[in-house]
This record gives sequence, structure tokens and C-alpha cells, in this order.
Amino acid sequence: MSLSVPASPAPAAEPVLRPASLVGRTRAGLSDALAEIGVSERERRMRVGQLWNWIYHYGVRDFSAMTTISKVLRAALAERFTLDLPEVTAEQVSSDGTRKWLLRMPPVGARDRGAEIECVYIPEVDRGTLCVSSQVGCTLSCTFCHTGTQRLVRNLTTEEIVAQLMVARDRLGDFPGRTPPEGAFVPNDGGRFVSNIVFMGMGEPLYNFDGVRDAIDVISDNEGLSLGRRRITVSTSGVVPQIEALGAEMGTMLAISLHAVRDDLRNELVPLNKKYPIRDLLEACRNYPGLSNAKRITFEYVMLKGVNDSDAEARELVRLLKGIPAKINLIPFNPWPGTRYECSDWDRIERFSEIVYRAGYASPVRTPRGRDILAACGQLKSETEKLSARARLMLEQSEAEAAALAG
Ligand code: SAH
Ligand code: SF4
Repeated sequence: MSLSVPASPAPAAEPVLRPASLVGRTRAGLSDALAEIGVSERERRMRVGQLWNWIYHYGVRDFSAMTTISKVLRAALAERFTLDLPEVTAEQVSSDGTRKWLLRMPPVGARDRGAEIECVYIPEVDRGTLCVSSQVGCTLSCTFCHTGTQRLVRNLTTEEIVAQLMVARDRLGDFPGRTPPEGAFVPNDGGRFVSNIVFMGMGEPLYNFDGVRDAIDVISDNEGLSLGRRRITVSTSGVVPQIEALGAEMGTMLAISLHAVRDDLRNELVPLNKKYPIRDLLEACRNYPGLSNAKRITFEYVMLKGVNDSDAEARELVRLLKGIPAKINLIPFNPWPGTRYECSDWDRIERFSEIVYRAGYASPVRTPRGRDILAACGQLKSETEKLSARARLMLEQSEAEAAALAG
């Protein structure tokens, strides 16, 4: 069962470029905004600190609430900028408390109609995990993943990535002086509603390296959203040349979507493996900066019936990971319309997990959450994709015609 909250009115047919929002910006981005309205360089540093505090600590939605900033400056800011969050076009609440938000980002250029992405909140007793997207769609076409079938792809901006956490905290009433929506299931140990972030929504984060790195800088900043880097996990399908830089520049936890123990099968499931085979991938993992028993790498392994779930494969998995401080996360396959795969039977998953466990690895089987609202791993895909694809096709056709005419 799922509950749908009424969606906002349909967006206008033509994108309208609204004043830019300051939400999601880095300190440098806020400083640029102040420069634009003529604040002197000398004053900017202090003003950035104030804006930062109001936006990220207090989550205010209106410049008039920024009482430490002069009225004149507040008015100048309000004339040129907004504090808007992306529009929540739909909110679904699963019977298990998982929440999925469909967000429409404001257009980033004259030709952009405003990306639509999904963002999922998974509350547990002792933590609240937000699963965020790094791209609209994904170029990598892993055969078991719904996102990979989406044709329209672009990187999300830093602001758009940060905005996902801002929307979640706004909707959950998780800012000073605010309260959660009635009946919401949130962690009940007194901690933060969003205590962890995983980059496991749409997209390959390492193909949007700068956008993700800057967003993590904003999210982990102690004077604002203050989410520690150890509570942020970046999941990659295995972009080997970027793994070291991920550790060095982002310092987050690393998750690797392994899913197979032989190159021939992994080539099929995760086509990027043809470029960066298992050996190279595991070598990059061994060299991951900061790797230790306290900072283990999570290896994700999706359980596909009759494809990768035999006892022999469980044993090979353990052998491959020898010497790498690791956790193994078995993910029951989440089906989506049109997929050719099925989820392994429960007793098969248990048997696989037992072999891994006996070899000394914690091997939690990730309980599928929010399946009833298609919010589980790999089920995310923007619902308006068809419309956007058609719009893009029209655009490409008109460009081709223009080029033909010009030629
Ligand atoms: N692109 C990155 C991060 C997003 S995918 C990556 O591939 O790691 C997040 C996780 O969900 C990955 O481990 C991915 O393999 C897994 N996943 C994708 N589709 C899935 C499905 N249908 N069922 C279960 N897990 C899936
Ligand atoms: Fe992209 Fe990850 Fe899906 Fe593969 S599993 S298609 S890399 S989002």
C-alpha cells in the first residue's frame, strides 16, 4: 500500500528562467552572488558566513528571516535571488515508512526543461538514510538496473545534489524550530532524521566527479549541514581511474557494485567491466586512501536468480576480497517492468550469505525498502522521461534541419 500526496500543478509548457536560488551553493558560489549585487570583497567573507548559517543551519526559506543581516542587504538579495528548493511534484510514503520524492529542478539553461529526479528516504530505528542521485539517468546501462534504461542523461549540478538533502530535511521538519509531519516514521533514538547519505540513486557519481565533490564539501561542512564524511557513501560501478581521487578529495566511504566474480559475467551485467576488469578494480580498492578495518569498503552484490547466486560464486567472492577490509552487502534484486531477471529465492540468498558470513564477513542482506512505491535500488527512473525524450528528439531534429540549411 502506498499513499500519494497530491502533486503540485503541472509546470508551464515552456521553461521560464526564474531568479537563481542560493540553496545548494558552495561558499565560493555565495561569494559570487554577493559580488553580483555589489558587496565589497572585504565584506563578503563575513556575509558568506552569515548566509551559510541561515541557509544550511536554520534552513530558512525567506531572506526576511535572516535577522543578522541588514534590511538593505536582505532586500538587495531578495531582488536578485531566491531561497527556493526544487519543486516536489510528488511524495509517496511506503507502508514501511520509506518516502520517495519526485523533484523537478528549475531549468539550468534555455534548452533545459528542468530535470526530474527521485530521492528516497529510508528511516530505521537508529539512523535515517537518504539515497541521492548524482545524474539524471545513467550512461552505463547495467542490464539489471532500471535507471540505465533511461535515455536522457545529464550531470546534476552541485546545487541540485545538495538540494536533495535540503528538500528531505525541509519535508521532514528537520531544522531548528520545526516539527516532523504528523505520523512520520523517523529515527527514534533522538538523532538526526537524516544521519547518513548514500549516492545510490540515479547515475554514476564518478562521472560527475566535480559536482559530487563540491556537494559533499557543502553537506559535510561543520558550520552548516554537518554530516560527517564517514556517514556519506559513494557507490560506483567501478570507474577505476577516479577511485583514488575519490578517497583523496572526498574522503567518504566507498561502495563498489561488484555483482559478479568472473569477468565474462560482469561484462554482461556491468558493461563498464570491459574497460576496467575485476582485477584492476580490486587493485584500486586495495589502494583506496584511508582504507582500514575501521573504514571498510562495501561490496554490493545483487542477487539474480540462476545468474550469479551459486555456492561456488559465494566462495569465489570471499577468495577475491581476501586482504581487503570489506563488508559485503547482498541486495535482493528489485524487479522493474520489462526486466529479464528475477530475484534469487530466499533460501538461496540465505545460503550465499552463510558462506560469506562463515568466511568472516558481516553480510547483511539489504532488506528491500519501499518496493511498493518503486523506491528500491535500481528502480528509480523519472516518470516524465517519455515526454522529455520526445522534446529532445524534436530539438535534435530542428538542429539537424538548421545544420542542413546552413550547409
Ligand atoms: N551508479 C552507481 C550508484 C547508483 S546504483 C553504482 O552502480 O554503484 C546503486 C546500487 O543499486 C548499485 O549497487 C546497483 O548495482 C544497485 N542496483 C541497480 N539496479 C538494481 C536492482 N534492480 N535491484 C537491486 N539493486 C540494484
Ligand atoms: Fe548506472 Fe549504477 Fe544503474 Fe549501472 S547500476 S546503470 S552504473 S545507476
